Amino acid sequence: MINKIIASVLPWMPKKIVWLFSKRYIAGETLDSAVAVASRLAKNGVSSTIDHLGEYITDIGEARMVRDIYKDMIERFEREKLSVTYSLKPSNFGMLIDFEVCCQFVREVVAKAKEYNSFVRIDMEDSRCVDDELELYRRLHAEFPQNVGIVIQAYLKRTPNDLLFLEKLHSSSTPVNVRLCKGIYVEPPEIAYKERKVINEQYIKALEFFLQKGIYVGIATHDRALTDYAQTLIKSLAVKPDRYEFQMLYGVTPDLRAQIVKAGHPMRVYVPYGKEWFGYSSRRLKENPHLITYILKALFKR
Ligand code: FAD
Repeated sequence: MINKIIASVLPWMPKKIVWLFSKRYIAGETLDSAVAVASRLAKNGVSSTIDHLGEYITDIGEARMVRDIYKDMIERFEREKLSVTYSLKPSNFGMLIDFEVCCQFVREVVAKAKEYNSFVRIDMEDSRCVDDELELYRRLHAEFPQNVGIVIQAYLKRTPNDLLFLEKLHSSSTPVNVRLCKGIYVEPPEIAYKERKVINEQYIKALEFFLQKGIYVGIATHDRALTDYAQTLIKSLAVKPDRYEFQMLYGVTPDLRAQIVKAGHPMRVYVPYGKEWFGYSSRRLKENPHLITYILKALFKR
């Protein structure tokens, strides 16, 4: 209910007010801000994956620009000697307009990352995108097995089949690298589980699957029940730290993040930057409606 209210009110809120809430989740609008955040995190033993904000472009001409932004970003982090990875949303490369153009541009970004022995993760978007994003991954993984990864959303009812698809792609010479998250898009009940308990059960099944199959997994969650379980599982299966990492979003649960780092686990933070922060922030807000209090506080402070 509260999510519906927020969804209807959000487009009418002054952007300046939404920014006051958003800035905790976003490095800033410029590449410099992303470099600054990533270097601060690195000093605390935390890796970063950098995302240039933007999604669902409607003009395929913009895709070329996004490709260039990513190539420049990769060059910049190399010059800074900051070892990061990159995350991208295929809809920002025009996937919903022209799949082949999107494939070509994302391929160029992955090829650039390969020049520096780096890595690009294909984020998973809403359920309309899943088939195409898996196909994009399949193609790029065949060409750049060490330099590209994909995301699996535990809440999707199709996920058990997608795990088998990934298992088929996985071998010692073509290792699959996956980020496991719960899934953030609002989906109908035919497509995605809705209850937290069921989603967590699905998450655990997928995590066990990846760890047991030796598939590298980014354990992307801020849910303490899941991070506790994952740590126990890693210990009992004696999983080496080169087979997994924990992943969290910039600005979310920094205390839990610090505890996991202190326990000796690898940690990567997803650092978004750019001018297109509104869509990203709106999802954070709908996901966690209690954050509306930040906006209300900001309103009353004016
Ligand atoms: P939840 O049960 O939602 O949250 C657990 C606890 O974390 C909450 O109780 C709260 O204390 C805290 N928390 C969670 N969110 C917030 C917040 N916004 N602000 C403050 N506290 C919060 N989803 C996709 O669909 N596709 C992707 O490609 C994708 N990539 C991701 C990459 C990373 C590194 C991470 C961490 C998440 C990604 N997600 C992605 C989002 C993910 O699917 C979830 O929606 C999100 O992580 C919240 O789920 P949770 O596992 O943290 O559990």
